[in-house]
Amino acid sequence: MTQAFDIVVVGAGMVGAALATGLGQAGFSVAVVDRAPPPSFNPDERPDIRVSALSAGSERYLDTLGAWQAIRQMRATPYRRLAVWDETRHPLQTLIPGRLAEVAFDACELGAPHLGHIVENSITQQALWQSAEAEPSVTLVHGQGVASLQQDQHSATVTLDDGQTLTAALIIGADGARSRVRELAGIGTTRNQYSQQAMVISVRYQGSVEDITWQGFLPSGPRAFLPLHTAGDNHPGESWASLVWYDAPDELARLKSLDNAELMAEIQSGFPADLPPLTHIDRKASFPIARQHAKHYFAGRVVLAGDAAHTINPLAGQGVNLGFQDAQCLQMLMREAKRAGEDLSSERWLAPYEQQRRPANHRMMMTMDLFYHLFSNRIPPVHLLRNLGLGAARALPFARNRVARYAMGIDDELPAVIRQLASRLPGLGQL
Ligand SMILES: Cc1cc2nc3c(=O)[nH]c(=O)nc-3n(C[C@H](O)[C@H](O)[C@H](O)COP(=O)(O)OP(=O)(O)OC[C@H]3O[C@@H](n4cnc5c(N)ncnc54)[C@H](O)[C@@H]3O)c2cc1C
Repeated sequence: MTQAFDIVVVGAGMVGAALATGLGQAGFSVAVVDRAPPPSFNPDERPDIRVSALSAGSERYLDTLGAWQAIRQMRATPYRRLAVWDETRHPLQTLIPGRLAEVAFDACELGAPHLGHIVENSITQQALWQSAEAEPSVTLVHGQGVASLQQDQHSATVTLDDGQTLTAALIIGADGARSRVRELAGIGTTRNQYSQQAMVISVRYQGSVEDITWQGFLPSGPRAFLPLHTAGDNHPGESWASLVWYDAPDELARLKSLDNAELMAEIQSGFPADLPPLTHIDRKASFPIARQHAKHYFAGRVVLAGDAAHTINPLAGQGVNLGFQDAQCLQMLMREAKRAGEDLSSERWLAPYEQQRRPANHRMMMTMDLFYHLFSNRIPPVHLLRNLGLGAARALPFARNRVARYAMGIDDELPAVIRQLASRLPGLGQL
């Protein structure tokens, strides 16, 4: 049996579930399909290994979808300060005063209550599924992947793994970095695999919940400490945190093969002594990281959003924040198309989506690559430039705050000097 909708969203991850909710609220009939089972939340369980720093802009969007309150009721950790440290050893180190290599962002300086929230991905997804389910015009289909796609002048049809067919005027591919919808629509990508991977380690530490995140830069890759919630009555006086360790795949494989006591010793020597004392390693997982950009954001009746359209280096945690910006833009244009009584897949609406979102996503990719190239580098002149750059950023609170405001989703534009630096990076012209 074929079911008909205005829009089918493939992938109910954070971006797809947000889109389905927003489109449902705008009065569209929407089916949202995910091959995974529904997410679940148990307050007594250890945290999800995947967490994201959600910007103030994402928080506002999730609030309009009715999901932010549910996220806060489950678990979300606000962070008010961000410390950046550079522990790189290099021949020119003696020329540069150590304190120049530190930049700290404080929400007070930006006139904001916080810089963002660290939220477990499964909690954001769960809250969005609840919001989607509360919309009468949204149908959630889980446990079924999309197997094939056909489209013609009048409609597009997806066939699910169990043979069910769903037809709509528009199919949104929000099915992640290895998007099947993108492949079925014949949309290629440009891709650059970084020489680093990311290992995430869930830990507990002694002390109450911190309001500061740490990011350290080493030539082998960044390291980060992201505070999470209290560990509760089972572990009095302790809190959870997520460590992120970027390094070469061989080194991460070595670290993963260590037992917890050995890994703890490596963490203690590889992270700054200022961090609260760690008490327990819960689990670890590694993720390949790549910059990937779809060659087109739409083809016929198919349009891409979130990681299906773009993935970036997660070193400053921006991936899903960009995906939420795609979702808001697409929702707004679909509302306009509905008001005009036009075909939702018309270029009149999908071309502006690509025109608005591609340059914005590209700009953030370039910024992350600028950081990647500046910090993952042993060449002395680059070190010097980099440290002077951080020194300048420290000396110029205005420029520094502009970068922070951009990363938080408050400002749309990066300072011109950062844009110019990023545009000179090798390989970025191909995006
Ligand atoms: C180590 C690491 C740290 C990160 N930290 C941050 C951070 O701090 N802040 C931030 O903003 N971003 C961060 N990111 C990026 C962020 O996780 C992604 O950008 C985000 O998860 C993308 O969401 P999405 O909904 O587009 O895709 P996904 O989360 O990949 O969801 C895709 C969904 O589609 C479903 N699906 C896939 N194929 C099919 C199919 N054929 N049929 C049906 N369903 C399908 C999947 O089950 C899944 O639910 C990080 C990434 C990594 C690797």
